[in-house]
Amino acid sequence: MLTNLAKKVFGSRNDRLLKQYRKTVSKINDLEPKIKALSDDELKAKTPEFKQRIANGESLDSILPEAFAVCREASRRVLGMRHFDVQLIGGMVLHNGKIAEMRTGEGKTLVATLPVYLNALTGRGVHVVTVNDYLASRDAGIMEPLYNFLGLTVGVIVSDMQPFFRQTAYNSDITYGTNNEFGFDYLRDNMVTDQYDKVQRDLAFAVVDEVDSILIDEARTPLIISGQADDNVQLYQVIDQVPGKLHRQETEEGEGDYWVDEKAHQVILSEAGHEHAEQVLTDMGLLQEGDSLYSAGNIMLMHHLMAALRAHTLFHKDQHYVIQDGEIVIVDEFTGRLMAGRRWSEGLHQAVEAKEGVEIKRENQTLASITFQNYFRLYDKLSGMTGTADTEAFEFQSIYGLETVIIPTNRPMQRKDYNDQIFRTAEEKYEAVVNDIQACFDKGQPVLVGTTSIENSELVSRLLTEAGLPHNVLNAKEHEREALIVAQAGKTSMITVATNMAGRGTDIVLGGNVKHLSDAIMADETLSDEEKQARISSLENNWETEHRRVLEAGGLHIIGTERHESRRIDNQLRGRAGRQGDPGSSRFYLSFEDPLLRLFALDRAAAILNRLAPERGVAIEHSLLTRQIEGAQRKVEGRNFDMRKQVLEYDDVANDQRKVIYHYRNEILTNKDVGDLAQSIRDEVVADLVNIYMPPDTMEEEWDIPSLEAQLAGEFRIQADIQGWLKQDNTLDNQDVKERLVQQVEKEYAAKVELVGKQNMSGFERNVLLQVIDSNWREHLAAMDYLRQGIHLRSYAQKNPKQEYKREAFIMFENLWAGIKQSAASLMTSVEVEQSDNIVAESEPQEPAMMQTIHSGAPTMEDVLGESRQELATEAFDPTGNDFSPEALAAQGLNVHRNDPCPCGSGKKYKHCHGKLN
Ligand code: ADP
Ligand code: MG
Repeated sequence: MLTNLAKKVFGSRNDRLLKQYRKTVSKINDLEPKIKALSDDELKAKTPEFKQRIANGESLDSILPEAFAVCREASRRVLGMRHFDVQLIGGMVLHNGKIAEMRTGEGKTLVATLPVYLNALTGRGVHVVTVNDYLASRDAGIMEPLYNFLGLTVGVIVSDMQPFFRQTAYNSDITYGTNNEFGFDYLRDNMVTDQYDKVQRDLAFAVVDEVDSILIDEARTPLIISGQADDNVQLYQVIDQVPGKLHRQETEEGEGDYWVDEKAHQVILSEAGHEHAEQVLTDMGLLQEGDSLYSAGNIMLMHHLMAALRAHTLFHKDQHYVIQDGEIVIVDEFTGRLMAGRRWSEGLHQAVEAKEGVEIKRENQTLASITFQNYFRLYDKLSGMTGTADTEAFEFQSIYGLETVIIPTNRPMQRKDYNDQIFRTAEEKYEAVVNDIQACFDKGQPVLVGTTSIENSELVSRLLTEAGLPHNVLNAKEHEREALIVAQAGKTSMITVATNMAGRGTDIVLGGNVKHLSDAIMADETLSDEEKQARISSLENNWETEHRRVLEAGGLHIIGTERHESRRIDNQLRGRAGRQGDPGSSRFYLSFEDPLLRLFALDRAAAILNRLAPERGVAIEHSLLTRQIEGAQRKVEGRNFDMRKQVLEYDDVANDQRKVIYHYRNEILTNKDVGDLAQSIRDEVVADLVNIYMPPDTMEEEWDIPSLEAQLAGEFRIQADIQGWLKQDNTLDNQDVKERLVQQVEKEYAAKVELVGKQNMSGFERNVLLQVIDSNWREHLAAMDYLRQGIHLRSYAQKNPKQEYKREAFIMFENLWAGIKQSAASLMTSVEVEQSDNIVAESEPQEPAMMQTIHSGAPTMEDVLGESRQELATEAFDPTGNDFSPEALAAQGLNVHRNDPCPCGSGKKYKHCHGKLN
């Protein structure tokens, strides 16, 4: 009550904002006579002048009034459209990074030109985002003459476009495209192995048209790029044969091919084992005669072999895993719990699957994915426009930090919105719908019938055909063709049946759209020029009469055959009528058999219905019912919001990780010389290894030098006689050994550089790093997917699945880093080079074959309602709160032995990690 009163006295925030914007509108209007007096050339010269002033440090805000005045004048000259005052306000709202709610037909396409022009002056590129390719091309096509006049270039991104053309389009001052294309390009750019293959520049400013469709309706599912990357189901099966052909060593020093270090959970191939394995692989046709397992081209093979050996020797059924319904389910080593959904990484899981003869998963691997929420938050400044934002203003604010400003219409709204009519059965409802359409048809009024699904469109179409009423049906399948039909939906007695998606963004002009029809006539090659001229002028001459007839018949009438789950979509449908002060009307028809009523308002509504007891064919109109239905819509909206929030909350975890990986990857991609980075990785990994087997500040009795030597030889091909060093000098400690090892590694490395050249080596290093990051990141993404899918199956007593997800994701990410460093170091130190060896070409990262982009449509209301989801709490997870100290573990009833691997997942022994005694 009080807030209502306060609003009346002081005006709402919206009113206050509008008042401020109006002041600037006056300024722009005051500039008009002066700007109007400029010649075309003088007007054009304004763009370089503004650019210069920006370069001199002037802010965009201070240039805004002049720039808007220039853009308006140029538009008047080039397009014949002068921005209305309310359109200037819309432009300012967009420039301020907010959402402009402007009704359908208010000319948002033109509104966008103002902030787009202003912000493009910075030279950083402005993106205009539309809901489909057709609209992207159309809007860019309409506005290009204006931008070109002002000295700016325009590009369009559409699907199936080659990278080169994309690059050109992104390098333009202004780029039009769909949300999917922008998002997928971002993901693809972070998969390239050469920085010149990137297509996008940085993400500065975006204007999102129909922002509610894009940031809300389409935001329920993420964008995914998937592919059948290094997915070698067969290779796993073939390699699975190899361990059986090799001989296990009885003792660490004994005869045989490999030693299983149970304590360190490692398998180490002996020198003989290498040769033997190479022989076996050559016999199987996997390795070329005389080829080495260590050569850069055989990285994957080596990787698979080690995974198979580990699967066969270190992972035991019913101890480390169980088989359930043909799937390998990991058993938590510490608690014995089944870790449903979790997978071992680095191909180990597949190797175990191969060993057990169960189906090897991962046909389609996620290579990259992002939600729209997280993509659009990457822009320095984001703005949007739509006819219907107000009902979702809270979500825009809370998720994107976007404020919604409602902008008044240019002319007063004339549309009549009638009350809903509710029928007992769907049959009665559709009867009434057909009667209403027939009445419109008879008096010459055009009518647009909205449905919530293609099935319902087809149903209505059948009924109309039976009634002998001619009509068009649009299903949002062919955007371009449907836009043509919708453009004519305002002609006398025209009947158009459409799902809410169909013909979006196309204006319905009462009396028909002359421009569209003229374009079609001009494009018709069967007509002579004279015939074209004749037809077009008769069109133009008849339009006035046609237009007047439709106005007299009451303008466009909208019929909703069902209420959508979201009030916003209903408003979109209504908004098609009554544009720019046109007359028009709307009415929704409902029945108690509609899903919305069935699922939500049924019992109470049924009681009301019984009290009112209408006869067959008689509708009820009752405020109580209307309120109940709105309540039901709010409920579904709330659920959908929760769902989007949940998608986002899960993606947020991946998002933070994605940023780190993409950043790191970019550094490698753009750095001329990655030698220093490569060296630090090698040195770090070697030092870590020394710490495991020769912990600092420990006595010689606690060291395990033979294992250290074996690890160095096996993983890194470093032959170091550490036992010899210690015999010569028994004062050597952890630090000294590290230094000597690092020296040796770098010396051997330098020798290889000597042989192949620095540039060659640097290229090799870059490729190894990219390859290792990419393959590990993919593995990680897949593991995260499985984790997310499986997390709610876990029977964690009293545990919150999202917390668990965050906790495990954090551990997995730590492991991912360790894995990346380890594999990179291993590959870099063990690579064999020969003179004139072109190691770069051999190790060229492989492009995943057949990349596929997926953005699945939003689920239907039935899906949403039928889904029983666990309510998930939302507190953030603090990884530092993870306590792996002996006390904390004991408190949880966990008993970790000092030689066991640390439960934090570092891969080190517990006594050398969190279990270290102070
Ligand atoms: P919206 O996207 O807001 O629904 P559109 O951008 O499709 O509206 O524009 C609707 C129609 O209004 C278009 O035919 C457009 O050419 C016309 N229009 C927009 N602004 C103006 C203007 N200032 N003067 C004249 N016509 C305009
Ligand atoms: Mg539009």
